[in-house]
Amino acid sequence: MSYWLSIVVATPAHSNVAGALTYRSEWPLAPGCLVRVPLGRREVLGVVWQALPDSGGLPEAQARAVLGALDGLAPLSDTWRRLVAFTASYYQRSIGEAALAALPPQLRELSTLQLARRLKRPAATETLPPETTTDLTALSAEQARALTELDADTRPALLFGATGSGKTEVYLRAAAQVLASDASAQVLVMVPEINLTPQLQARFEARFAHLGKAQVVAMHSGLTPAQRLKSWLAAHAGQARLVLGTRMAIFASLPNLRLIVVDEEHDPSYKQQEGARYSARDLAVYRASIEKACRVLLGSATPSLESWQATETGRYQRLSMHERIGGAAQAGSLPAVRLVDMNHQPKHATIAPPLLDAISQRIARGEQSLIFLNRRGYAPVLACHDCGWKSECPHCSAYRVFHKIDRTLRCHHCGFTERVPRACPSCGNIDIAPMGKGTERLEEHITELLAGVTRPGGEPLRIARIDADTTRLKGALESQLASVHAGEVDVLVGTQMIAKGHDFRHITLVAAINPDSALFSSDFRAPERLFGLLMQAAGRAGRDAERGATSEMWVQTFHPQHPLFAALKKHDYPAFAAQELKEREAAGMSPFGFSALVRAEAREQAVAQGFLNAAAAAAQAQQLPGADAVTPYPAVPMTIQRVANIERAQMLVESPSRAALQRFLAAWQPLLHQTRQEGDFKSLIRWAIDVDPLAI
Ligand code: ADP
Ligand code: ZN
Ligand code: ZN
Repeated sequence: MSYWLSIVVATPAHSNVAGALTYRSEWPLAPGCLVRVPLGRREVLGVVWQALPDSGGLPEAQARAVLGALDGLAPLSDTWRRLVAFTASYYQRSIGEAALAALPPQLRELSTLQLARRLKRPAATETLPPETTTDLTALSAEQARALTELDADTRPALLFGATGSGKTEVYLRAAAQVLASDASAQVLVMVPEINLTPQLQARFEARFAHLGKAQVVAMHSGLTPAQRLKSWLAAHAGQARLVLGTRMAIFASLPNLRLIVVDEEHDPSYKQQEGARYSARDLAVYRASIEKACRVLLGSATPSLESWQATETGRYQRLSMHERIGGAAQAGSLPAVRLVDMNHQPKHATIAPPLLDAISQRIARGEQSLIFLNRRGYAPVLACHDCGWKSECPHCSAYRVFHKIDRTLRCHHCGFTERVPRACPSCGNIDIAPMGKGTERLEEHITELLAGVTRPGGEPLRIARIDADTTRLKGALESQLASVHAGEVDVLVGTQMIAKGHDFRHITLVAAINPDSALFSSDFRAPERLFGLLMQAAGRAGRDAERGATSEMWVQTFHPQHPLFAALKKHDYPAFAAQELKEREAAGMSPFGFSALVRAEAREQAVAQGFLNAAAAAAQAQQLPGADAVTPYPAVPMTIQRVANIERAQMLVESPSRAALQRFLAAWQPLLHQTRQEGDFKSLIRWAIDVDPLAI
């Protein structure tokens, strides 16, 4: 007797094998079982999606049979499959692609036998005595209130807490409570970038050490495939009680999930940028809604405007913590914000004289300063003043950045690297010069400006730089951060990498050198990101309560009157949010409107744009469902139009209704596929839909 099953395998959305495939099996297999099946000439991993009543007309002789089941593993839960199905449909990809991408890669490669061996190894479940609560710090009044309020509600919760207000302690307590209430309960804690948050991981591990090592696991791309599989299996089997991970962890199989924490919920890294371009934050909210008795707790000092608006309308619960731990007694425990009007500073000054004075004074007092800039490298471009040549990348519509340390010109988009030419490649002038400043040049410049300034003991000062270039080697970031924590560094220069999350104790001055470009960006989320970044950066100053009162955040700007800075001066996120939301509402932008981008890549820009416009015209002609509430805009080149010799174009599709946009996209997909098959567009390299894109 044969059983008929629909099974999903990894097929990209754009291949013609889109949905689930029908297979025959000698044994009954429950939905959620992992199986190995033939696909073409290969043998691949599949997930049983549902049992079918019959072959659906497929002749028995043509049906392919399941080769084996990974029967040491319990089937993936209904909820997990719902999460995957939702992801596929919402983000316009195939279920197979979404499902298989959600599993650890090694699972795909292991044979049934190898897996069986791995499963047999018993996990070390030492049960240590539960942690006693007496040695824990007492909660602040605001923390206690947040936890009580959280307990009394069931909606998704947003913990709106100033930097240093002790959000992590709230996560820890909420997690501890869930774990204590039910011996099988599981908690998922998501962080934006695990490499930037070793401190958080350490805190969770320390707090839940009593659960035993096997019960707290990490899930992120920094793990080896074997470690990832191990964590995944522990979570799937219910042994891991607490999973700490990056966005991919939202798909962990957690049969008894009771709480999802999303730390720094506004962080753009929660959005996947390839394949199914999901938002792990949004999926966390969805997942909590379909799990049995699961809460979701989002946290941020500068929430995404989407989440903030949801608390305004009451869809989410808002928990507020305004005061920094230990800083409540002092007036103004958040750093004072000083705007430097660059219109009144010496021309071409990178660091305004008053800021330089302030930094020198900190050094003399033995305090640290942090200066950040959004550009790594020495100088953004190298230019010839005779003929106007600039260090353009031959493969991209972008300039290559001058890295002085190894005298190279490096493209930050395609990676193309060359030694700096001795003379201008276009006119032979040997006097080619750097233009603008990156972190490397800023470090050098500051070193010159501060020559002669010494530490309190008279020793020479130390300047350090942290950015993607200085932290390429494994462990480099940790050791550099350690020397900052140890007080060995007086001035820290870096990119926004250092402005986020780190718990620096001795920094009392933070300076943003050149934040203006985000004020007038074509990307409507740029002000939100800038405000969040500056608030985050301000949060790095004066984390030590004793120094909180004298700490400062300096911002150099040509637009000191901008309302964004007015809100920043008062550390007033709600005022900023109210102002931004008003503008977004008037413009029908997120969260008041919904959008998707369709991107296309080709050797020629005309092909990429032509494809998008032709597909939009076909949608128009066919009156697709939802089309009356959806506006497609004409295709345009992407901001960085060419990368690695590939031309890129995009089309924005907007709607005031999420449902209409979803209906429209689902109906449009087959038309996009069809358009691609037509004469002119066969040369298209790829296209993809990005739903709820972060940058437009
Ligand atoms: P946030 O994540 O909100 O920026 P943290 O959770 O990092 O803040 O807390 C800031 C600092 O305050 C940390 O060093 C933390 O250990 C400490 N802290 C948190 N809660 C308490 C408390 N109730 N009592 C004493 N210290 C606390
Ligand atoms: Zn020249
Ligand atoms: Zn390039």
